[in-house]
Amino acid sequence: MREHRLVIASPDTMGEGLVAVREGSELAIELRLESVHEGVLATAEVDAVAEGECGRCLTDIALPVEVEFQELFAYHSGEAFEYEVQDDHVDLEPLIRDAVVLALPFQPVCRPDCPGLDPETGLRLADHPELVTHEQGDPRWAALAGFEASEDESTGAAASAAHQQREER
Ligand SMILES: [Zn+2]
Repeated sequence: MREHRLVIASPDTMGEGLVAVREGSELAIELRLESVHEGVLATAEVDAVAEGECGRCLTDIALPVEVEFQELFAYHSGEAFEYEVQDDHVDLEPLIRDAVVLALPFQPVCRPDCPGLDPETGLRLADHPELVTHEQGDPRWAALAGFEASEDESTGAAASAAHQQREER
């Protein structure tokens, strides 16, 4: 078994969404290579930083990305393996790329409760809390506000009906 700790610059940009691990940014890789009967078992942990924009307010953000994977690189055996030992090496790049790209958030945010941009002024609401009002809430919820009120009434009616029944006994 061999263990390596590698720090390399990403050979190119990984990811095509709002955030990506950019070419030249640092990848820290903890790697374990084990000789097994069929080939070489590679286990890796990769730490990187994805950079891009918050999906709600477009502020620049940097997010830590941590991924792990384990894959068997088989010796040539006639059987079809997805990954094989080539001459005397294993190529980890496609595995690292797939793991990192899959781990990138589809809707990255600068913070979980990022309020986004003001629809009228385009200002970042986190910087201008005075623009946030309750009336500005998502209009899709407005329809539900009516349901909430009528549900309260019916619960009240049911409660008073139950009360009446008890009195009748
Ligand atoms: Zn944001």
